[in-house]
Amino acid sequence: MKLENKISLVTGGSRGIGRATAIKFASEGSHIILNYRSNDEEANTTCNDIKKFKVNCMKAKYDISRQDEAKELVVESIKQFGGVDILFNNAGIMLTNTYDIKDFEKMINTNLYSMVYLIEGLKENFMKRGGKIINVSSVAGITTALEGTTYYSITKGAVITLTRRYAYELGKYKVNVNAIAPGYIETDLTKKGKSEDEWKKIVESISKKTILGRIGRPEDIANVALFLASDDSDFITGQIIVADGGRIDYITHSL
Ligand code: NDP
Repeated sequence: MKLENKISLVTGGSRGIGRATAIKFASEGSHIILNYRSNDEEANTTCNDIKKFKVNCMKAKYDISRQDEAKELVVESIKQFGGVDILFNNAGIMLTNTYDIKDFEKMINTNLYSMVYLIEGLKENFMKRGGKIINVSSVAGITTALEGTTYYSITKGAVITLTRRYAYELGKYKVNVNAIAPGYIETDLTKKGKSEDEWKKIVESISKKTILGRIGRPEDIANVALFLASDDSDFITGQIIVADGGRIDYITHSL
């Protein structure tokens, strides 16, 4: 067991990448604080799946794009579990084809500020007990990955700087801070609003531009997260691990 008796806080854990990661961590012996914003049914299902591994799962319904709710999540986590060993900063939204500054604000609050609220809120906890912080960025934060994602990409690029800064600040307390930059992963975030036909075409097109010839699954990211959460990555910090099947960015490459 790689995470026996560890306490993991997984944000956006009810579905997609967060769900797969929470289940993976639980399968390695970690208790889970499962944060989500709105969908109780999905959170119930995921918590039930987690409990099959004989670990605790606490559902934590907080909108962490809001500072007050993120603060409450920190207080409740410490109250219920005594502390947190692993923070998987994953909750995120992607609003595309928009240059509305209100949409930008929503993405900054969810994709970026939430991470800052939680890291700052748990700073003392981590300085006392060490631990692992894993932030979910995106290939969109590194390359010009997809049309219509300018504001989203800016938030994901900032996650990279955030990761390096906190790695620098917290390293002396034995806290490793790393990020994962996933490529195109099949979740609600990518499928939402697309017909089956449209989805099929996107999958085909992206698979063609990917060395490994397929799009990603949430479990592909959960496997990287487990590595970064476990002792196996004790000498790694401030790094951005790209997990995208070797995607060839056609905009960059056609320039
Ligand atoms: P999903 O849309 O499948 O899941 C998002 C999760 O985040 C849900 O559990 C949702 O809860 C939660 N969430 C959203 N907003 C908040 C909030 N304000 N407070 C608390 N929880 C919130 O997304 P993915 O699994 O695809 O994405 C996870 C992360 O990975 C995101 O940061 C995304 O940007 C990133 N990513 C995804 C890629 C992909 O291709 N899928 C590629 C690269 C990065 P609820 O349903 O209750 O609102």
